[in-house]
Amino acid sequence: MDFALTEEQRLVRQTAREFAEGEIAPVAARFNEAGEFPWEIVRKLGELGFLGAIFPPEYGGAGLDSVSYVLLVEEIARADGSIALTVAAHNSLCSGHIYLAGTEAQRQKYLPRLARGEALGAWGITEPGSGSDASAMKTTAVEDDAGFILNGTKAFITNGSVAEIAVVMAVTDPARAAKGISAFVLERGAPGFRPGGTYQKLGLHASDTAELILDNVRVSREQLLGQLHGGFVDTLKVLDGGRISIAAMAVGLAQGALDASVTYARERHAFGQPIGHFQGIQGMLAELATEIEAARLLTLRAAYLKDQGRGIRLESSMAKLFASEVGMKVTTKAIQIHGGYGYTREFPVERHFRDVKLCEIGEGTSEIQRLIIARQILQLT
Ligand SMILES: Cc1cc2nc3c(=O)[nH]c(=O)nc-3n(C[C@H](O)[C@H](O)[C@H](O)COP(=O)(O)OP(=O)(O)OC[C@H]3O[C@@H](n4cnc5c(N)ncnc54)[C@H](O)[C@@H]3O)c2cc1C
Repeated sequence: MDFALTEEQRLVRQTAREFAEGEIAPVAARFNEAGEFPWEIVRKLGELGFLGAIFPPEYGGAGLDSVSYVLLVEEIARADGSIALTVAAHNSLCSGHIYLAGTEAQRQKYLPRLARGEALGAWGITEPGSGSDASAMKTTAVEDDAGFILNGTKAFITNGSVAEIAVVMAVTDPARAAKGISAFVLERGAPGFRPGGTYQKLGLHASDTAELILDNVRVSREQLLGQLHGGFVDTLKVLDGGRISIAAMAVGLAQGALDASVTYARERHAFGQPIGHFQGIQGMLAELATEIEAARLLTLRAAYLKDQGRGIRLESSMAKLFASEVGMKVTTKAIQIHGGYGYTREFPVERHFRDVKLCEIGEGTSEIQRLIIARQILQLT
């Protein structure tokens, strides 16, 4: 067992930290308050190779391992949850699905543009009437001689209105439930395919979340991603990787909130001394730092096992469940440590508090993670 990072992993973390502190942190509050998608930052992330982080160089990627990817998502989230989610959905979900299930021609067609950041990616399984129960989706893909015709609406799709490329799941055989779902790659501008409304959200105001409307969208057989009817099985594999990035996002948001709290505890005075001298505050800081470290270790372990080519369904669910709940606890206490100022927009902790809530919901709620973990330990699947 070796807990040391490699030289390359340290370098990735350092590069991401410098970028997050220098380029993201100073503007994060502005973009979030304006509810504006931070294109200028996203373009720079593409230049740094962070939008093709985990894909091999032959597809334009940076060829990083999953541990490095987790480190970079954590560092970005320390500064801003919205940008971390943009990166996570683009890499782990959209590009991840194309890399996992795509033919060589599909990989060559889509991944280099995604990896260089020339196109952002979105991934849609959720619908207005189905989230946790994803296989109850209503979007259909009806096969004919020329290919498929897609109809339906996807809901809550990250990067939905800014993406050029989207992977969407649709029912290809209603009689076969989860075994009758297929994945398709769509490009922006395809007739009948358009973003629908965006959402007024609690947090992540600089992350784009939109509906995707599919109105008689004709796709060729070359746009089928993976096996016909095999889309749901691939989706579960994509989510195994995606959940690690959501765990990393939660760890980063928690660390950002803790860092701000440590600074505040040194500077804020009460009863003639810095509040960090009070044991009540010290106890909170110690407990939060310890829980963040535990969440980080679970997340890194899941990433390490993924790099070893091992199954990670249990480990990625555990990491996401634990890290997101730690994230919620840390950000709540961080507001407490900041007192009244913590409740205002003068400090980043209220933004991290609002942002980290998504980590308990997206890519499977905490209740669903508990089901997945229980099924694994009871060996029910
Ligand atoms: C900001 C944001 C970004 C998102 N990005 C994407 C994206 O890029 N792509 C995408 O496809 N989706 C995305 N989602 C959707 C997200 O994955 C779903 O919201 C999530 O899976 C929950 O589904 P739901 O909202 O339909 O809740 P529901 O499934 O309706 O759940 C409602 C409640 O019931 C509980 N529940 C449901 N079933 C069970 C059960 N069997 N046992 C116990 N409790 C249960 C849930 O835990 C929850 O508490 C995003 C959501 C948000 C908010």
